[in-house]
Amino acid sequence: MNEVFRQCVATALSILLIILPWYPARAESQAAPAAEPAKLTLHQYLQKPYEDLFQVASSLNFSASEVEQERQALKRGEDSCRSRFKEHAKTYSRQLDAARKQLKESGTTLADEPRRELHCKIQNLEMLRSEADVLSGHAIPTAYDNLGAKLDLIQQWPAQQRQALADLESGAYQNRRWADVKDIGFREIAAGQKDDIKRGKEAVDELKQVGMLPPELDSKPIQDYVRSVAERIARNSDLKVPLRVSVLQSREINAFALPGGYIYVERGLLEAADDESQLAGVIAHELAHDTARHSAKMMKRATIASIFYQAAQVAAILLTGGIAGIGMYYALQYGFYGLGLVLDLKLLGVSRDYELEADQLGVQYAWKAGYDTSGFIRFFDKIASKQGYVNGVSWFRTHPPFYERMVQTQREIMFMPKQSERIVQTSEFLKMKDDLAPLAAKAEKEDVGKPSLLMTREEGCKPPPKLEYTPGQPIEKLCAMPLYDESGETQ
Ligand SMILES: [Zn+2]
Repeated sequence: MNEVFRQCVATALSILLIILPWYPARAESQAAPAAEPAKLTLHQYLQKPYEDLFQVASSLNFSASEVEQERQALKRGEDSCRSRFKEHAKTYSRQLDAARKQLKESGTTLADEPRRELHCKIQNLEMLRSEADVLSGHAIPTAYDNLGAKLDLIQQWPAQQRQALADLESGAYQNRRWADVKDIGFREIAAGQKDDIKRGKEAVDELKQVGMLPPELDSKPIQDYVRSVAERIARNSDLKVPLRVSVLQSREINAFALPGGYIYVERGLLEAADDESQLAGVIAHELAHDTARHSAKMMKRATIASIFYQAAQVAAILLTGGIAGIGMYYALQYGFYGLGLVLDLKLLGVSRDYELEADQLGVQYAWKAGYDTSGFIRFFDKIASKQGYVNGVSWFRTHPPFYERMVQTQREIMFMPKQSERIVQTSEFLKMKDDLAPLAAKAEKEDVGKPSLLMTREEGCKPPPKLEYTPGQPIEKLCAMPLYDESGETQ
């Protein structure tokens, strides 16, 4: 069932790919479109992509009180959705206590089969409880943050767009930080990049040693392709150290930079991206963390590996309530939250200013490399709106609020000199997707048999339904999901 749905999504995506190359051309016209009467309710507009909202916001005429009402409705929705899953978690906790008590009281008299059933019950309840915790604590707030940001956009972008257009007109935009985009490659974002090479190398070695870096994806064509995209961006950036790019065999939708020019792209991100400009946008953002030396600025004492390790522990605790002694790599592979969740926060993006700086420089590098700069916004939106609640929450969940990031990025896009041609899609990207599909399917299949974080102890239990968000679904649907018991029946 799930597989069928996934295939449908995949088909829909491949249709999207064909349409996309023509689609972003609209971003070219910065003038507000002619006023059109609102065809949708305010809430319906919140389901639209950021890119569309940037285009139509100034033609929408929702009153301040309508916006306020929607804001209140979102607040109520988030509160009730979160408390619902908090209640679910409590129910599972009570059931767990009862099951454990039963196990203890039955002592040695229990036959093997009912004992096994009781083990399965406990295992499944633990899984359901941690999923409910993750939903109420992380996924649901993220989904509502995203909707709130779109509401802010509808309300505030028209005025900010006018200001940006006025700044363009008057030339004031040239006073912003890093306005010297014609000198990319010849300017110094942060002195001493080469000092980071050793730190980066040490971090990579240490992470490999403790088994925290997923293995490389075993495909030379895919590695070569991603490297060529990254090299193209690096050539058009302020990076002054050799670039090292690696695609990792991990389902996580994530990419990260280690100091000194190490860029890691996880398989899940390649699966999630629709076109080359989206991939380029993410790589350019990560590369900007390196050119600006954000990690060196942030970490005076702690080693990178120690921060990774802490991050992984946080991820494991989120999932299990703190079960110790589980291979960290599997924790990362099977958690809803992998390394990336805390990685960008702890290692690179904990500072709001650094994240915004990487967004700005990322747009500039993608632009200089000839890419459609809106790829970054489209990818961000896709992850936040369609995949991000649970499954791919890692890459984009960073400190500056969604709205601030999106608006700043959009302004930077407006301030870039116009390009005659911009790359959105390439045949190489499409070939990479074709190469990737069977590899990803194979990896997922192999993963099924591997010990997972939550299913290692009693083999062969029938797992409960997964409490997770289905890509593309409005958050309200998730909020209305019934309470399942450990055998998958609704309670
Ligand atoms: Zn970042």
